[in-house]
Amino acid sequence: MNRALNFNAGPAALPAEVLIEAQKHLLNFNGTGMSVMELSHRSKPYEEVHDGAISKLRTLMNIPDDYEVLFLQGGASTQFSMVPMNLLKEGQTASYILSGAWSEKALKEAKKVGQTSILASSKESNYNSIPEFTLSDLSSDTAYLHITSNNTIFGTQWQSFPDSPVPLIGDMSSDILSKPIQVDQFGLIYAGAQKNLGPSGVTVVIIKKSLLERSTDALPTMLNYKTYADNNSLYNTPPTIAIYLLKLVLDWVENQGGVTAIEKINDQKAKLLYDAIDESEGFYNGHATLNSRSKMNVTFTLQSEEATKVFLQQAKEEGFVGLNGHRSVGGCRASIYNAVPLENVEKLAEFMKKFSQK
Ligand code: PMP
Repeated sequence: MNRALNFNAGPAALPAEVLIEAQKHLLNFNGTGMSVMELSHRSKPYEEVHDGAISKLRTLMNIPDDYEVLFLQGGASTQFSMVPMNLLKEGQTASYILSGAWSEKALKEAKKVGQTSILASSKESNYNSIPEFTLSDLSSDTAYLHITSNNTIFGTQWQSFPDSPVPLIGDMSSDILSKPIQVDQFGLIYAGAQKNLGPSGVTVVIIKKSLLERSTDALPTMLNYKTYADNNSLYNTPPTIAIYLLKLVLDWVENQGGVTAIEKINDQKAKLLYDAIDESEGFYNGHATLNSRSKMNVTFTLQSEEATKVFLQQAKEEGFVGLNGHRSVGGCRASIYNAVPLENVEKLAEFMKKFSQK
């Protein structure tokens, strides 16, 4: 198989096993004589895929019964608006911790809906860390506290989550399912699927049932969480092929031994690259401070733009894909989501070492 050494930030590498499985059933899914894409979303075979995906995610993430699992469209970016539209009431304030460009975008949309405040920000240090904050600074009218658990662009990640006195909202687009988390620390978790869960086109929302009471009927039907909760995310046509692939990715995660086993491999992968940076005697510089380093997106710079160019060019010639850093950080970024094989990361670490020695 001629598979690329894919370090794309998202859409990103999918497990080869998942693609092979999908390919096998592309023309005839489970004896239906149709692909999943051609099935009615009201049919029994599709229902099994849909419900199977929900229940597998529940099992893998150990989601308590008092939470709903919803499938939506519009990407995580639509959640930037839906979260305040559904959860922020008149007279309340939505509080945001700014740890990168995606949290800024989430805040920007919330401002269009109601009153907001910033509890903490690491913007001044070009978002090289998760900012310090004090929960007691939250005002008594706070509707929720929003965080971005992994900052895809800057390569920083929350190492633990606060026990917030108000519902904690987590944008987990780039680290969901990469390690065990305690869902009940959150009121709502959302994630676009295209990093750790599957292809783009489906967004997962995990919401505490009691929060659904905040959604009023005045909201547009498709922007109301209750619509999805009341109809098992089948009020209208869901993105069936994306949900099918998500289900296959969840089966794959289960076969790897679940999120605990996945976390161990992710730790190993991240260590390989951070060691390559730390042992390079300043040839490579990590963007993130040590205690905020992301295990999903490893960001680093070289001494000069010229050196970066040569590095990226040679990496490309060696078959590495997706290593260009985001323009706001510069340098390089290696995204090492769940489906990026350990051996590909070993190859990259080896390449980095050889390149710096040369
Ligand atoms: N939040 C984070 C942390 C992201 O990494 C991204 C996408 N890279 C988004 C939100 C936006 O997601 P989408 O493209 O699905 O709207």
